[in-house]
Amino acid sequence: MTTTRFAPSPTGYIHVGNLRTALMNYLIARKAGGTFILRIDDTDPERSKEEYVDAIKQDLEWLGLHWDRVERQSDRLDRYAEAAGKLREIGRFYEAFETPTELDLKRKKQLNMGKPPVYDRAALNLSEAEKEALRAERGNGVWRFKLDHERIEWTDGILGDVSIDAASVSDPVLIRGDGQVLYTLASVVDDTEMGVTDVVRGADHVTNTATQIQIIKALGGTVPRFAHHSLLTGPQGEALSKRLGTLALRDLREQGVQPMALLSLMARLGSSDPVELRSDMAELIEGFDVTRFGSAPTKFDVQDLFPLTARYLQTLPLEKVADAVAAAGVPDELAEPFWMMARENITTLKDLKGWWELCRDGAEPLIDDEDREFVAQAMELLPEGPFDGETWGKWTAAVKEATGRKGKGLFMPLRKALTGMERGPEMATFLPLLQVVLARK
Ligand code: GLU
Repeated sequence: MTTTRFAPSPTGYIHVGNLRTALMNYLIARKAGGTFILRIDDTDPERSKEEYVDAIKQDLEWLGLHWDRVERQSDRLDRYAEAAGKLREIGRFYEAFETPTELDLKRKKQLNMGKPPVYDRAALNLSEAEKEALRAERGNGVWRFKLDHERIEWTDGILGDVSIDAASVSDPVLIRGDGQVLYTLASVVDDTEMGVTDVVRGADHVTNTATQIQIIKALGGTVPRFAHHSLLTGPQGEALSKRLGTLALRDLREQGVQPMALLSLMARLGSSDPVELRSDMAELIEGFDVTRFGSAPTKFDVQDLFPLTARYLQTLPLEKVADAVAAAGVPDELAEPFWMMARENITTLKDLKGWWELCRDGAEPLIDDEDREFVAQAMELLPEGPFDGETWGKWTAAVKEATGRKGKGLFMPLRKALTGMERGPEMATFLPLLQVVLARK
């Protein structure tokens, strides 16, 4: 059965870059009728925070990316210890004692000699006695996985055929000197034991994948299908890494971005299919195909989310936004006509309040000198309430009749007088909402 996972480290809020990973894994699982696991990669006790675990869940719930179960790496340390034992047993695990400074020096020397900065495996030559002495002097060493020096190959769901020379990669450290298991090992053990069949993650993990394939095989697991999506850049192609902090999902939510707008964009951005606004998750699932994504960096412009949000809101009936309409202060009896007017004029639901205030209090009229008399005359002709969808048509017909004005010369001064704007709502739907304020005048 298809099983995917989204595996964030709870060391910060999730942002648009993480969302891409989450969404792709989610859609693959749902499309196949499989399982989507939320895996919390919290093996680093210093950097992992419970508040971020909660925030990640809230953000995914907001988007409607529901998981089938949660797994936490911190609950599975015994499983990792067992895997480490197995690697030791089969001779693929060795202890190394170099300090970061020593490793740095080695790298510099290699680079000076034009060689790739790959760990030289000096620790493999240490005798037991030498290791004992180093342990006494420096404490426990780190544990490295001994790569087989062969080409590691896989067919990537996005990148196509990938081939990496294991000799160009350092033997990865899987356990730190203080005993902390690192992600590379934990992830492999989890993917294997949880039956993960498909792993989609960012292209920054390609080298990891190469080493993880060897570790999975060494532990007797089944290698999942891998796909690596390109990293997001800003609209000009600039690196986004520094700005991702301001593109946290909660900031976008705060700015009024609608989940469906965000999901619709992310499910297509960087693929050969056009971005299409989807109305629900079923449509997103239906239209998703990971193989359509390309390897080139993907340009992301946060501004694109606003027109999509506006278009999405235009499609919604009142019942979907009733809470937001009520929260803007709109009384129940006006909620329906207000929403029908407002949904055509807002970018986000945050704009509702301003529109309601305009309806409730009336606009600061915009009246050109040459229209002053005309507007005054028109106001005299305004029918008695209650207003409905026909009132505007009847009123302007009467004004036309009385003043001889027509077309723009008739409508524009009235629009400006009533809305304070040259462009804006459909007047036939707007006028009934002004009934209370007009009656007061
Ligand atoms: N915790 C890892 C990360 O956030 C997971 C990577 C993976 O999907 O394997 O980068």
